[in-house]
Parts: sequence; structure tokens; C-alpha cells
Amino acid sequence: MTETAPGKEPIKASEIDPKFKYELAKMHGGEKILRCFQCGTCTSDCPVARYSDTYRPRTLIHMAQLGLRERVLNSDTLWLCAACFTCTDRCPQDVKVASVIRVMRNLAAEKGCVPQVFKDQTCSILESGYAYKIPELRLKKRENQGLPPLPKGNPESIRKALKGVKFIEATEKKGEQHGQ
Ligand code: SF4
Ligand code: SF4
Repeated sequence: MTETAPGKEPIKASEIDPKFKYELAKMHGGEKILRCFQCGTCTSDCPVARYSDTYRPRTLIHMAQLGLRERVLNSDTLWLCAACFTCTDRCPQDVKVASVIRVMRNLAAEKGCVPQVFKDQTCSILESGYAYKIPELRLKKRENQGLPPLPKGNPESIRKALKGVKFIEATEKKGEQHGQ
């Protein structure tokens, strides 16, 4: 995954996949991506862009329109979106920006391009039912404070609920391989 702004390197013709934007436009939430006329309202109103040097929703939409599939899907900035939907509310072209970003994330997740922190959380949820492993010291502190033990996680029911999610299936498969 790239750490820099996804749109800064010069573009090579070989990178361009002209079908990418049509693929996004066929997916639920991505339908209106072709309407974007690059006004920049989404970026100027985005609370994350205000505090990030690299995250720009307008740029992600532009890159998708240009067909820069791999740059978009390999970009870690894709995962900075807080899904607040301000951009969707403000877009004058009715592009569902937050949903387009969700669609891009789903495609990225299908090919395993997910920041390590989310991969670790996923593994933890699938194994224990908790998003992260509670340290023994913390459990001891609870006990000392007279608090009841934490309820047991139910990873089985979580696995059942997430059945069919490609990223989860890939994560589970990897876990099985590592367990061999
Ligand atoms: S606000 Fe809408 S039209 Fe303007 S740049 Fe963002 S997505 Fe494109
Ligand atoms: S949904 Fe994401 S891209 Fe849109 S304004 Fe909120 S943080 Fe920014």
C-alpha cells in the first residue's frame, strides 16, 4: 500500500484502465460517479481533508474517472474517510461520494489491500469476538476494582453473520494456512 498522496506521481499510459469508472458506476452507490465535474466541494467540506495533507475525496473520484484503478485501490488514504456523508449532502451533481468511496474500499478489500490495523482487528474479531485482544493487566485491573469478568466473545455467530464477505473469507483462509 502506498503512503504518499495517491495522485502525485506522473501517470503512465499503461496504468490507465478506461473501464474502471464504468465498473464503479455499475455498483450500488457508485452509479453517479460519471456526473462529477470536479468542482471540489466535497474536498472543501470534508472534515478529514481539513486535517490531512493527502486525503482528498475529489482526487479519488478524479483518479477513478481517469482509470487509475491500481492507484486508487492500493492507496491507504482511501481508508481515511470517516463516512460522515457531508460530501454526499453537498455535492451539486448528486454524486454519492461517500458511497463511491465505500465501493472503492470493497474492491480494495477483495484484493486484500486493507491497512494492517484493520486486518489485525478482523483476525481478532474472528478469533475472539473482540476487536482487539484485551491485555491480561487490564483484566486484572477489572478484577481488582470488583468488576465482573467480561462476557465471552462469540466468534462463531460473527463468522455466520459475515459469511459471504470476500475479505472475511480471505482472512479466514490465511488464518487457516498460518495455523497449519
Ligand atoms: S462535490 Fe461532487 S461534483 Fe464536486 S468534485 Fe466532489 S464529487 Fe465532483
Ligand atoms: S464521507 Fe468521507 S470523504 Fe465525505 S466528507 Fe465525510 S470523511 Fe470526507
